[in-house]
Amino acid sequence: MEEAAMQQRPMRRLVSALRCLLPSVVLPLLIPLFIPVLLVMLWLAERSHGPSSAPPHPTTSRHGWAALRPKPSERLLVFAVHPDDELVGAGAYLAAARGPTLIVYLTRGEASYARRLEVSHGSHPRSARERLGRQRTKEARLGLGHLNRRSERPARTLVLPFPDRDLERLLPDAPTAWQPESASRFYGMARRIVAQFRPDVVLLPLVYDRHPDHRAAGALLSLAALGTRARTYGYLVHWPLWPIPGGYTPRLALRPPRALLGSGLTWYRVPITPSERRSLLYALYEHRSQFGLGAPYLLAFLRANGLLAAVSPLGEGVTIYEPSGVAVSLRGRTLVVRVGRRQIAATLRAIVLYPKRRYEALKVTVAKAPLARGVGHLALPPLPRDTPALIFIQGLDRLGQPRWSTSPRLLLPTAGTPGVPRGNARG
Ligand SMILES: [Zn+2]
Repeated sequence: MEEAAMQQRPMRRLVSALRCLLPSVVLPLLIPLFIPVLLVMLWLAERSHGPSSAPPHPTTSRHGWAALRPKPSERLLVFAVHPDDELVGAGAYLAAARGPTLIVYLTRGEASYARRLEVSHGSHPRSARERLGRQRTKEARLGLGHLNRRSERPARTLVLPFPDRDLERLLPDAPTAWQPESASRFYGMARRIVAQFRPDVVLLPLVYDRHPDHRAAGALLSLAALGTRARTYGYLVHWPLWPIPGGYTPRLALRPPRALLGSGLTWYRVPITPSERRSLLYALYEHRSQFGLGAPYLLAFLRANGLLAAVSPLGEGVTIYEPSGVAVSLRGRTLVVRVGRRQIAATLRAIVLYPKRRYEALKVTVAKAPLARGVGHLALPPLPRDTPALIFIQGLDRLGQPRWSTSPRLLLPTAGTPGVPRGNARG
């Protein structure tokens, strides 16, 4: 017994020594090992959003990657769904703009952290929302002050009263009930602002954005800007695990998510000088209500460049590859939709939205076609010439229920080459 106890004692000592070492030595050794594993997991997650089931990518000739900077006297119109989107998504271009600039906030961002507000304010979140809306509008003004200090022509702002977290009802393919009157009002308002300000460049949320309000606003604003003389670009704010890494890394280039590289978008990098980035940093810091846990995400956009994608409509000979695994192209008046293996559907439906005359209510028309061997042919109704249209393509199951939707597509029917806008020069 004595001998066995003697043998056990060094073992016990070893175990207790290991126990003491665990937090101080072993864990710090394991954490650096864990970081590469985490990075690989993030990379794989980002890859999984890629168009793996989509038809082969188009040639890379459409991937512009040219530099884009504002011209000195250019008239710039920026649409922001929430106060701070103009800095996060379009900050690099905005900080360099020296011409007359108008920033239109579509909402006051009062629903940010809505759930947290509901918890902390019980059944009376409305007053808290109103307070947050006022605070965010003030933060936007203070933030722009940092950019305006560098400019002889300070940017003007316009705050519109659309409800935050409710813009998705503007689109007919939304899971919530579509509000056609609100969509017409929104479109008419956007059209009037574009007509009155007469911008050379319009920046708006990209329709691929994963925030439903950004997607909806981007679609209807693109419709309003398309066919005018303005060059139109979209900016991206919400995409899963993007940009990585989070935090302030001003030397790193900002690149589009991999899944959006083959989607027929023409991307541009917006170079940014250190002093412009500094004023953007100060401007962003004024948005105190969004800092805290959101700081690494917001700061991740302050890179060596900003990013914009040309908003160009679907035209003859252009195939658009959706990140969801759907390819859309136009042949005359027929939309050819090729569906990847993952996108199972029995029927296709196209909802086409177009204004009959300027500022008038939006019209809607629906086309349907069976899907055979992954290909569907949707015959578009005759659309008024030179009138832009928005097309939503959905895959329906055997019961006619929507299984998936593509991003809204723009189309500009003209006499010769439908979809090629005359005013939308590239670069
Ligand atoms: Zn936003």
